[in-house]
Amino acid sequence: MSETVTIVGAGMVGICTALSLAERNFKVRIIDKNAPAQGASYGNAGIISPWSILPQAVPGIWKNIPNLMFGRHQVLKTRMSQLPKLVPWGIEFFRNTAPEKVERASEAMSILCGPSIDLYRQHLVGTKHEDFLTEAWYVHAFRSEDTARNWDENAIDYRQRRKFGAEVEFIGDKDLHRLEPALGPDFKAAVLVKGQARAKSPEKIALALLNKALSLGVTFDQAEMLEIRRENDLWHIQCKDRSFESEKLVMAAGAWSTKLLEPLGIKLPLMAERGYHVQFPNPGVALNNSVMDIDAKIVASSMTEGLRVAGASEFCNINAKADPKRQALLTKQAKTIVPDLNTEDASFWHGHRPSFPDSLPLIGEFDTHPGLFASFGHSHYGLMMAPKSGEILSDLIEGRKHNLDISAFNTKRFS
Ligand SMILES: Cc1cc2nc3c(=O)[nH]c(=O)nc-3n(C[C@H](O)[C@H](O)[C@H](O)COP(=O)(O)OP(=O)(O)OC[C@H]3O[C@@H](n4cnc5c(N)ncnc54)[C@H](O)[C@@H]3O)c2cc1C
Repeated sequence: MSETVTIVGAGMVGICTALSLAERNFKVRIIDKNAPAQGASYGNAGIISPWSILPQAVPGIWKNIPNLMFGRHQVLKTRMSQLPKLVPWGIEFFRNTAPEKVERASEAMSILCGPSIDLYRQHLVGTKHEDFLTEAWYVHAFRSEDTARNWDENAIDYRQRRKFGAEVEFIGDKDLHRLEPALGPDFKAAVLVKGQARAKSPEKIALALLNKALSLGVTFDQAEMLEIRRENDLWHIQCKDRSFESEKLVMAAGAWSTKLLEPLGIKLPLMAERGYHVQFPNPGVALNNSVMDIDAKIVASSMTEGLRVAGASEFCNINAKADPKRQALLTKQAKTIVPDLNTEDASFWHGHRPSFPDSLPLIGEFDTHPGLFASFGHSHYGLMMAPKSGEILSDLIEGRKHNLDISAFNTKRFS
């Protein structure tokens, strides 16, 4: 048995990292202040795609911001209290819209997203839950055929996905409703991104992988980390009601990570970018794929727990109360996507995407703090990026060399 590693955060990133490390015989402890997989990894839209390789910051995005904020779909919101943090973050975000930066980010994203389906399939082997992942297309549903055609031919989104190998196809009204019979009549055309997968339950996949890790000797403790400090070449992890010691420590606490690192003098521009979902447990209708309403930027997907509609981007304090208007709005939007939807007994959830201004996570060791590793900041893509992130971090912890260029995830890039 080699060194002990403690992972703070049992979201999908922490769990995949624990599994990869356990497979290499590390002695791993994973801690979470809550039950496992109850953060962003619980309620996301379930998209697992090798082709999600476009960062949020793209050329010309500023032109869309007024519509995203004040248009009828209310995609983007910010609360005033966040402005002091959001302004510098936003400046950095817009710097990242330069074409050469987008190109670099796409390449980096493809390192993490490219193998996502294969790695999930490997991880799920032996869990008896291999069927929690299913092949799917990404159906980008448009209200106008002309707009869909125009986007298909000109938008950077599809240009970039094609460049990285995705099969992308425009379809008209008839084919769209043949593909998704439950889809509402407002949608007249779609652009399909093929060769993807979707989680039928992100939470259940996370728990299946955690159970696999536990069977390999990983331990899980429900404990809230309050403080970490280095003493006698060990990391001392002070939790609310107990403490742990560990040779290596991995911070994988998603949107909470930077707050936990600040006492060590590590300052990073991470925003908690809130998203919401509404889930309908007895929907009475089903979708075959991940369907995005391209105007509302929400994704609907049939899961084992019901039909889930997820989206929105809200920059607010991580502890702020949920915006109650979102449930009604998402329910209305869901009814447009699937008009026959039974909306009774719906549940309402919110979670936080850990978002850096360049859409890329931090993966690696902090030079200033030996034995302290980061794997957080996976923003909109953490479900699909988690397995490869876990593999890369395990390589780094093990001191194994590989030939991938992982400099884009460097822990020093914001200093
Ligand atoms: C609405 C929405 C839709 C999304 N859709 C997709 C999608 O379709 N595909 C995709 O790839 N990504 C999607 N994402 C993004 C994805 O969900 C996240 O990037 C991912 O879940 C981040 O995983 P994580 O493990 O880093 O964080 P989390 O899942 O948030 O886990 C962090 C964990 O750290 C724990 N923690 C925090 N503080 C402490 C502490 N002090 N001590 C101990 N533990 C602590 C928390 O309790 C939590 O369990 C979506 C996100 C949202 C909000």
